[in-house]
Parts: sequence; C-alpha cells; structure tokens
Amino acid sequence: MKILVINCGSSSLKYQLMDMDNEYALAKGIVERIGIEGSILTQKVEGREKYIIKVPMETHKNAIKLVLEALVDETNGVIKSMDEIGAVGHRVVHGGEFYSESVIIDEKVMENIKACVKLAPLHNPANIIGIEACKELMPTTPMVVVFDTAFHQTMPKEAYVYAIPYELYTESSIRRYGFHGTSHKYVASKAAEMLGKDIKDLKIITCHLGNGASITAIKDGKSIETSMGFTPLEGVPMGTRSGNIDPAIVIYMMQELNMSFEEVNDLLNKKSGILGVSGVSSDFRDVEDAADNQGNARAQLALKIFYSQVRKFIGSYAVTMGGVDCIVFTAGLGENSPETREAVCEGLEFIGVKLDKVKNKCRSKAEYLSEAGTKVQVLVIPTEEELMIARDTKTLVS
Ligand code: ADP
Repeated sequence: MKILVINCGSSSLKYQLMDMDNEYALAKGIVERIGIEGSILTQKVEGREKYIIKVPMETHKNAIKLVLEALVDETNGVIKSMDEIGAVGHRVVHGGEFYSESVIIDEKVMENIKACVKLAPLHNPANIIGIEACKELMPTTPMVVVFDTAFHQTMPKEAYVYAIPYELYTESSIRRYGFHGTSHKYVASKAAEMLGKDIKDLKIITCHLGNGASITAIKDGKSIETSMGFTPLEGVPMGTRSGNIDPAIVIYMMQELNMSFEEVNDLLNKKSGILGVSGVSSDFRDVEDAADNQGNARAQLALKIFYSQVRKFIGSYAVTMGGVDCIVFTAGLGENSPETREAVCEGLEFIGVKLDKVKNKCRSKAEYLSEAGTKVQVLVIPTEEELMIARDTKTLVS
C-alpha cells in the first residue's frame, strides 16, 4: 500500500509518498510560500535530480493539487495515477484531551480538531485547511490524523495539572499537553529495538533537539513527563523560544516596561532562546561557530544555558522514573551536533552516563554512543515522524 503523508503549515506543506510494503519513501517534497509571492515546490526522489516547480499557489488546495500532479508526472513522478495512493496520513498538532491515539477522519474528528484551534491557534487551522483540501481532491481516499499531543496523554495527573486554581484545568483546559509526541514515540521504540529489549522493561529519556526542543520521560513504553507544556513555549530554551522563565517576568514586562500582550508574545516566541541570548542567530550551527571560532562570549553563554537546561531535565526525569536505562538524542541538533551531545552528557557520569567520544562524532545515523560497560545507553536515532504517521495510517485503514 502507498500512503501519502501530509504535514501542513501556515505557508508551507511537507509531504512524503511512502511505499508501506517495504517502508520506503518513494518521493519527499516541500511546497513553500503558499499564498505568498514566489511559491515553489521541490520534490526529491532518490537517484534523481530535484524536481522544482515555480508557479503561483494562492491556496493550500492549489498546493496539494500540484503535489498530486508532481507525484504522477510522467517524467518526474513516481506513480502512474492518483488511484495508487491507498490512504493519506495527516499530521495535526493538537488533539487536546480527545485523542491518545491516531484516528480515521470523520465529521466528529474534524469537529474535535476544530475545537482544539483555541489551544493551537497557529497550527491547527493550517492542518484543517490541508485535510479539507485533500478531502476535496481525493474524496474516496481514506484519511487518518496523527496528533503531536497524543503520545503524552498517558502522563499521570501530577505531571499535567499545573499548580494554579484547578478550575483553570476543568473549565478552560489549561494543562500540560506536550508536543513532538510522534517523534518521541518513534525514537523510543527504535531504541528498544536497538537494545534488543521490550520497551516495557526500559526507562528512556528522549531528547528531541531541533528548532523546537522537548525532553520526555518514557516508562513502560508510555510518556510520563514531558518538558513542553500547555504550549510549545515551555521547557528548555530553543532557537527563538525562551523555554521556562519565571512567569512574573511577563507581568513585569507588561506593567513596568509597558509592553503589550503582542510584544510579550513575540519576544518570548520569536526573539528569545538561543537567538535572544547570543544575539547571533537562532540556528545552532551559527551559534556554535560564533562560540568556537570567534570567541563570542554571548554565543558561549547561550549554549551553556541550553546544555545545562537539557541536563537538568534529564536529571529530573531520571528521578521521576527512579532511574534511567537509555538516553536518546534526535532531531536536527540532536542528530547532527556531537558538541551538544557531549556537553549535555558532561557531569552525568554519576548516574552512569559515559560517552565514547569517538563514536559520538557520528552524524545523521542511528548509533550507540556509550563507552562499553556503562550503565546508561546513550543513543542517537534520526527521527522519522513521516514513517510513524504512515505506519499508523496503514494500521488504521487496513
Ligand atoms: P525543526 O524543529 O524545524 O523540525 P530540525 O529538527 O530540522 O528543526 O532542526 C533544525 C536545527 O538543527 C537547526 O536550526 C540547527 O540549529 C540544528 N542543526 C542542524 N544541523 C546541525 C549541525 N550540523 N550542527 C549543529 N546544529 C545543527
């Protein structure tokens, strides 16, 4: 069965066509600048030149139509007709408390995704537009949604209820939801496979470190704590997001610095984190370069803050689980930055972490990083959210 995976953002759309008979990605692509001048589709097929189409794309429906055309294109495509697509899997960011697993899309599911728009106002509307456009263009193809929040629905109450008046949870749905669930779930199951163990017998800490970053504690195969919260702003500092700060800073900025709600929102989400402290960039490559090669003190400080926050979460999750068997690094930074993995693991020897510095030099492939004989296995595992979405889609439609 061939499954199309769609990840729809506000002005971009990523897609993959997976052949699920062998879990192989036939084509991967991205449409950028939807509704903005300069719209562009780039499709990659292994062993071929990139296929690029530059035409105005006013709406997501235009974009998805073009994706389907690119997939069936006589010279650049990978299938003969759209009928070969057996199902579509959509990534949706927020499923609220409605979903702890992926589901087949029907009217009720659409209603619930819409009810979660208030919880993810930047993401769910784009996801909904993508689903609706696909439904119009492929009315008879079954569709599935995979939620970023679903994996974390197993957290115990003490992990997800904030210590604020309880009615804010019961009446306004304010609680920890957690994000990157598909990625944490995938790398945890892959870690168990690499260690040759049942995931139920492992205490795993997964570190998804990309532009957005979150850490999750996984016990008995279930998420029991995660660093992102009501929104993806909580937790460790990220490219442009602050991560945890004293909430009173928000009050102070509004009251004493006369900042508006919009200014505070923009500052915490887009001007903070690694960018805010370093003043250099939100991209870790630039900040590492400034810190290592230019002696930039603020870049060095930004990285130190990041490493120490990630380490703190690892330590606290080891306590929450009563130990740790395995730490997994994934996503752009986790997969590609030996410097980050080494710095984060430094000082964790007392809980049994010892990195093999030679093995740690690897990038972009699954690898065992611990010194032989150490108690805690450190692994790097490239995340494959699209594969996970395709697997869930296949299971549900079969
Ligand atoms: P997103 O959250 O947007 O999916 P990614 O997981 O793709 O992000 O991670 C992107 C980030 O990974 C970049 O901003 C960069 O900071 C970091 N990154 C990627 N490659 C490297 C590298 N070789 N060295 C250091 N950091 C890297």
